[in-house]
Amino acid sequence: MRKTVVVTGSTSGIGLAIATAFAGKGDNVVINGFGQAEDIKVITERLESLSNCRALYHSADMTKPTEIADLIETVAKTFGAVDVLVNNAGIQHVEKIEDFPVEKWDQIIAVNLSSSFHTMRSAIPYMKARKHGRIINIASAHSLVASPFKSAYVAAKHGILGLTKTAALELAEMGVTVNAICPGYVLTPLVEKQIPNTAKARGLTEEQVKTEIILKAQPTRQFVKAEEIASLALFLASEEARQVTGTHISIDGGWTAA
Ligand code: NAD
Repeated sequence: MRKTVVVTGSTSGIGLAIATAFAGKGDNVVINGFGQAEDIKVITERLESLSNCRALYHSADMTKPTEIADLIETVAKTFGAVDVLVNNAGIQHVEKIEDFPVEKWDQIIAVNLSSSFHTMRSAIPYMKARKHGRIINIASAHSLVASPFKSAYVAAKHGILGLTKTAALELAEMGVTVNAICPGYVLTPLVEKQIPNTAKARGLTEEQVKTEIILKAQPTRQFVKAEEIASLALFLASEEARQVTGTHISIDGGWTAA
């Protein structure tokens, strides 16, 4: 059955890979995130070319609760359902706590944590009404372990696991599952952008950051691929995963086993 899938922050990286995977199997997808209108048009056209699905774009800024509510209302009005909600939008800032800009802290908590509360708050009534739904929060290895200079990100990503478990308990008898995926490093713009700042904060070259910090964290010494995360999301959205709820699945090349 064709589902309606909302993926926040899906004009790039992991979110785009997840939207592509759902569109590829015929689901209607609603994408969101920043970008130039012409680039976003190319993305929605490409998604629609993958199957006979519909791909819609909504520009909600994930720091703005009223825009987030409008995203979910628009999806429900357009497609009559919100079957799968993927909370993926995320940003990063790398700096030591005493120099960490207060507005960056607020922005990261808003996008990486509070936006998921706002999407869930709006989407849950639609899922409950149909006694079916899937909520997938894209968390991080940083939901389980910390790294220096990433205070806001680590705090938000630890928080999203608590929100995941709470929502799963509230919805356990409603046919709605809530889970988190905890990826290790994926070479997306989010990671590429933090390499220069990490190099500065740690006094290393950018190449050293890649080999001695990033890939050193992952015993496999390889980046995780966005498409691999998308495959996990497809599984969590499937009927076979109906008893998987209130938990996280790590996909981090062994990082958090250490
Ligand atoms: P990315 O920078 O490629 O994509 C981020 C997306 O979020 C973009 O579409 C961007 O436009 C959107 N976005 C940013 N701020 C927004 C806002 N205020 N409102 C709406 N959209 C906004 O990043 P990515 O690496 O694909 O990250 C996606 C998710 O995966 C994030 O939650 C991130 O924390 C998580 N994650 C990434 C990695 C990694 O190594 N890349 C590892 C673990 C977890």
